Amino acid sequence: VAGGHGTTRAFLLRAVDYGESDRVLTLLTETGGKVAAMARGARRSGKRFAGALEPLALIEVTLAPGRGSLPHLVEAVLLEPHAGLSRSLDRFNAAALVVELARECVADDEPEPRVFELLRRLLSDLDRADGTGCRRLALAGALGLLDLAGTGVGADRCNACGKAVPPGRRVLFDPRRGGVICTACGGGPIALSAKAATLLREFAVISDDPAASAGAPDPEALAELERAVQAFIDCHVSRPPRTRLSSG
Ligand SMILES: [Zn+2]
Repeated sequence: VAGGHGTTRAFLLRAVDYGESDRVLTLLTETGGKVAAMARGARRSGKRFAGALEPLALIEVTLAPGRGSLPHLVEAVLLEPHAGLSRSLDRFNAAALVVELARECVADDEPEPRVFELLRRLLSDLDRADGTGCRRLALAGALGLLDLAGTGVGADRCNACGKAVPPGRRVLFDPRRGGVICTACGGGPIALSAKAATLLREFAVISDDPAASAGAPDPEALAELERAVQAFIDCHVSRPPRTRLSSG
């Protein structure tokens, strides 16, 4: 969708009613990144776009230059509805969180193929995830999106002095100072157990497949990490998602 026209896969990040019958959409497109588009007639009749303007679904959109400043939506096709997301609150909340975070982490009109691909895999995996799987995917997804946005959580080095932090040990975490801080640099207000610190290392590396992980993580360690990563999001994302990382 370079220059606001063409056909591309996309996710609907937001839809705002406009006038009597239109909607202004915010889309994360595969080829053009985050773009705004006008969907004429989308408000008056759901049939206009054949029910394809569903949040959390993978869709294909065709955009054309519009009369105003926004490109307009010519066609929308539902590719993967992700119907499983609406069958479980855990899935829905995790999906809403990563979509909201993607919306906040991405600049307008810049291609973000890695963010698109991460979101595509996350929503596809969440569509059939169990409760623990949802928590793991939400954490891995949030950390991955933050990293792609240039505000990654430092997990294996002290974020003040850069010294490597030995693996498999309890660490201190300061969300304001970027993550793990060694004791020589004053540590941080959040203590992470060795298990939670290990999970943080695992999740902080962007995986090609966020669902892949060795075994089921310890629920206590997940809860610790959720609190730490939520505090990090609150410090570093200017408008943090309304959906919070669950703490159990
Ligand atoms: Zn240090």
